[in-house]
Parts: sequence; structure tokens; C-alpha cells
Amino acid sequence: MKLTILGCYAATPRSLSNPTSQVLEIKNHMFLIDCGEGTQLQLRKHKIKFSRIHHIFISHLHGDHFFGLPGLVSTFRLLGRKQDLHIYGPKGIKEAITLLLKLGDSWTNYNLYFHELTSTSSEMVYEDDKVTVETIPLSHRIYTNGFLFREKKALRNLDIQAVNAYGIDKSQLRNIKKGKDAQSSSGEVVDNTLLTFDPPKPKSYAFCSDTAFKEDMVPLIKDVDVLYHESTFLDSEEGLCQKTKHSTAKQAATIAKMANASHLILGHYSTRYKSLALFKQEAETIFDEVSLAEDGKVFEL
Ligand SMILES: [Zn+2]
Repeated sequence: MKLTILGCYAATPRSLSNPTSQVLEIKNHMFLIDCGEGTQLQLRKHKIKFSRIHHIFISHLHGDHFFGLPGLVSTFRLLGRKQDLHIYGPKGIKEAITLLLKLGDSWTNYNLYFHELTSTSSEMVYEDDKVTVETIPLSHRIYTNGFLFREKKALRNLDIQAVNAYGIDKSQLRNIKKGKDAQSSSGEVVDNTLLTFDPPKPKSYAFCSDTAFKEDMVPLIKDVDVLYHESTFLDSEEGLCQKTKHSTAKQAATIAKMANASHLILGHYSTRYKSLALFKQEAETIFDEVSLAEDGKVFEL
């Protein structure tokens, strides 16, 4: 898995900082997560091919998380896109985007599918044979979801030398990869563990922005490999944080610790702060493995 941060600041785009958007590369997918203003420029800058994006996940309908979407949808049209595009986001997102297309009489020449979300419980919004995506209901001023991206357990890896040594017939290989025992050329049962290696542990990534401190997300993201959790403010602005339904770096770290995450990435910083290092310092008083999101930064997960 590879995560590219296209933007990780709150509120307004500025010359050196972009609002929220990121790309998660997982099992040959390029999932776009949130689409703040300027996202298409950031995609170009970081050489991420538009044609590889088929699924876009939008957390909520505040401008700093989706004002880049109409522009991107329009650019895809101008470039003659043919492939389907799926957009997952809160109810209302279809009306917002289609109104703009209608007013400009510029309907897409590709199939555009909206998957509008209304549930306040976690639900599976995407699944194929390698990956699942579930919502993480968050607590913000408007309806908001985070997203949990999970690799599915892979098939077992064959130990070719052992397979040959036991004289295993090729017709059994598929079942052996699935974990079944086999029969040797002499007819004896061969335990699966003698013929295979464990596959790599499936990885998971949770994106949680924007949200107030929300303890009940912890069971949903338990043992996640990497947690991106917003930290708009520092503890010194706790009052403002509560009022605007955001989180502090300390609260983000508390969620990471409670969830037993392996790694925490902070982001969605208010531009009032001069130094991002303060966010890391504050989070590290609670949780050890902390990184700072920065526009353009790539994380190999
Ligand atoms: Zn918001």
C-alpha cells in the first residue's frame, strides 16, 4: 500500500498548502479520498494518472473536502474519458455535481455512478476479491464518514520444492493455496503446512477526517496498521475544537492508542499554527509512532 498526501490542511487553499485529498494505492487500485479544491493540479504535479482513478470516496460536503470534485469530473470529460467513475459520499453529492453539469449543459461522456451514503452505522461500500472499503461514521457539524480500507487475506504461497518432493499432482495446487491438505504420489495425506508458506499479513488503512473525539470508532478500527486522524488544533485550543467538532493532536493520539494502531498520521491542520512539529510533539506524549502528513508526502505502508 502506498499513500500520497495531495493536501492536508483545513479550510482554505493557500499558495503553499492544499485542502484535504489523498490517493491510496492498494492492490492495483488508486482510490482517491476526498477532493479539496486544487486536487486535479496536485494529481498532475505528483504524476498520478487520471485514468487509474475509478473510485472516489468523499467524507463530507464541507468545501475543503469536495470543492475539487466538480472540476475533476469536468476535466475527465474534456479529456474524453471512457471509463466508469464511482463516487461514494453523503446524500446530496449527486444533486450538487449534476446541477453544475446541467447548468453547463456538459454531461459526462463516461458513466458516472453515485453511491450516496446516509447510514449512521458502519457499512461496506466497496468489495472485490482483494479489497474491502467500509465506512467509519464520524462526529462532525454535518454528516461525515471516514473510510476503512482493508486488504483481504491472500492465498497461501506454495513451497515449490516441497510440492515437487512429495510428488503432488498439479490438479491439487489450487486447493493447496486455499489451505487444504494434499495427497502425495504414494497416496499419503500431506499436511498443508508442509507445502505452503504464510501469505503476507493483510494491511489496513483508516482515514478519519473531520471529526470530534469519538471513542466509539475504536472497535471499528481495532489493530489497524495505519490511522490517519485529523488534528485540526492543539490542546491549547480545546474549546474551539469542541465548538467546531474537530480534534486535537492529543485526542488523535488517544484514539490511535485505544485502537492499538501501528502508526498514526496527523493532518487537517488549522493554518493558524506556525510549526507542524508542535502537533507531533503533542501526539507523542500519548502515542509513539506518529508521522505528520505534508502535501506531497508519500507513505509506503
Ligand atoms: Zn469539515
